[in-house]
Amino acid sequence: MHPPYPSTSVSRRRFLGQVTAAGALALAPRWALAAGTDQPRKKLGVVLVGLGSYAGDRLAPALQNTQHCRLVGVVTGNPEKGRKWAAKYGFPEQSIYGYGTMDRMATNPDIDVVYVVTPNSLHAQHCIAAAKAGKHVITEKPMATSVEDCDAMIAACKAAGVRLMVGYRLHYEPHTAEMCRIARDRDFGPFMKITGENGFAIWPEARPQTVWRLDKKLAGGGPLMDMGVYVVQAVCMTKAEASPVAVTAQFDPVTMPDVFTEVEQSLHWTMEFADGAVAHCRASYVNQWSSLRADAAGGWVELPYPAFYYDEPLLNTSRGPVERPLVNHQEAQLDGMALEIAGKLPSLAPGEMGRRDIAITTAIYAAARSGGRVAVQA
Ligand code: NDP
Repeated sequence: MHPPYPSTSVSRRRFLGQVTAAGALALAPRWALAAGTDQPRKKLGVVLVGLGSYAGDRLAPALQNTQHCRLVGVVTGNPEKGRKWAAKYGFPEQSIYGYGTMDRMATNPDIDVVYVVTPNSLHAQHCIAAAKAGKHVITEKPMATSVEDCDAMIAACKAAGVRLMVGYRLHYEPHTAEMCRIARDRDFGPFMKITGENGFAIWPEARPQTVWRLDKKLAGGGPLMDMGVYVVQAVCMTKAEASPVAVTAQFDPVTMPDVFTEVEQSLHWTMEFADGAVAHCRASYVNQWSSLRADAAGGWVELPYPAFYYDEPLLNTSRGPVERPLVNHQEAQLDGMALEIAGKLPSLAPGEMGRRDIAITTAIYAAARSGGRVAVQA
């Protein structure tokens, strides 16, 4: 796995916060500039796959404001929706693809990156189709619904010589990034006691088109796959990206059996690390949770509610609150990933990291089903 935090990462993340907030292209590092000029490199052309709520409400608007990316096409099962998007965002109708015609993207030189935003179990096939078309891939979280699918995605991107990144936007969010730095530099010593939780009330607020989240075949699982993966991510951040060695877990009682027929309603789990650190975590589709706290011998850090939502998170520490630039998460992520591609830098959120998290969630489900302690093969 690439080192997730290259030595330049702290100053680079500060830089990202500034450019996305102020649009200060003049601050662009050399690798963001076209060779031998002071002109910004051509914006990377991005295609969105699956025009649902996250693509439509967050990613497409963000792409209108990014410094280093632009929306150049879509993949959709609904051609009429595709034509509306083409008119709204100003790309040619020839750049509307179907899920079965993604191979045609190979001949479109405007497309650099394909961003997969479909239901979880479809990420693998859409990622592999994009890689075969020779395009870099960003896939939404969770990366896939099995470790085997993650391996196939990584192999396809490697064979095609393209990047594979996971849409872990919080790596590009400056407060979260500072928490990572504190963990990596051990400002307070190693974090040994960690708690994290994430959830939202999926019902009855769920819109009909998002009911796939309750369908095990499409979602791969319930709140662990959707919201808990943020907690798994954040806990690993507090351990400087170490993987847990073992997990235990329990499903919580189901109070809405008519709704949660296939996936869990809520669950809680522990993650044990080689140095003796333990994280106590929970995820839910009925509770509005979103926070993290990590304690070390010399101090603590806390991402209070709404730690993992789109709102700007706070970072409190035993030294006092930390102030960092305010950024739009999706703009910062898209620009950050574009600069990683352009600068040939290691990604902060590579496919290998997404695979690690699916290995952990797989172990958590196995522990919840068996009631035992399960070793993590990350
Ligand atoms: P939506 O249901 O709103 O959109 C999914 C889209 O996928 C649909 O609109 C449809 O687009 C396409 N699709 C293709 N096949 C199917 C199918 N069989 N069933 C349903 N939709 C299908 O989901 P979200 O946008 O909320 O989530 C999409 C992905 O993004 C998920 O993996 C989710 O975890 C992730 N996500 C990440 C967030 C983050 O903060 N990083 C936040 C929210 C979601 P079309 O009609 O164009 O074919």
